Amino acid sequence: MPGERILIVEDEARIAAVLERYLRAEGFQVERAGDGKRALELWRAASPDLILLDLMLPEIDGVAVATHIRATSDVPIIMLTAKVEEDDRLTGLGVGADDYVTKPFSPREVVARVHAVLRRASGQVRSARQHAVGALRIDLDAFAAYCGETRLDISPTQFRMLAALAARAGVALRRQELLEGRTDGFTDVRTVDAHVKNLRRRLGACAEQLETVRGVGYRLRT
Ligand code: CA
Repeated sequence: MPGERILIVEDEARIAAVLERYLRAEGFQVERAGDGKRALELWRAASPDLILLDLMLPEIDGVAVATHIRATSDVPIIMLTAKVEEDDRLTGLGVGADDYVTKPFSPREVVARVHAVLRRASGQVRSARQHAVGALRIDLDAFAAYCGETRLDISPTQFRMLAALAARAGVALRRQELLEGRTDGFTDVRTVDAHVKNLRRRLGACAEQLETVRGVGYRLRT
């Protein structure tokens, strides 16, 4: 749809410029970020409709950027990766990317993927701000979580942790990843264990979905 906003996150200026030109020709509005830090700033400021996200970026890499965004947002993300190894593809999808394109790509192919992902996303607008994981439902707009029909009595910190786990349901998150976006006085990853313990107690019948993954961290089972 014309006027939709695309954020291109790519440190190779030549590639970014070509993508921008093709996307503008399709009627998209385009913003560009050359590193992960700027990407997060623009994502917050411009709330794009889709993000083209290079995997290998200076300072904050694409996986970290996607993880950060996915903790609170279902904005469509297409990963751009220079590597063809399967595990990189899986890493890209494991962080919640909607699609990926391997370099070298044709700009036309990227534009086609952008259209396809946006089409798919527009059919999910209603559910886009919710995570449903097993009997758990996390409503990001209402800042509310439910187990079945029961609304859970959890703190803002617990809510953010649950939302981060739900955004990547089935994937084990390291304690460090659960610290991101903190607003209170976490100083120690062990504090995470205490918060998770309290959170689990508050999940009621859904408590067993929150699993400890030994040596890694925590996972929300689907
Ligand atoms: Ca790069």
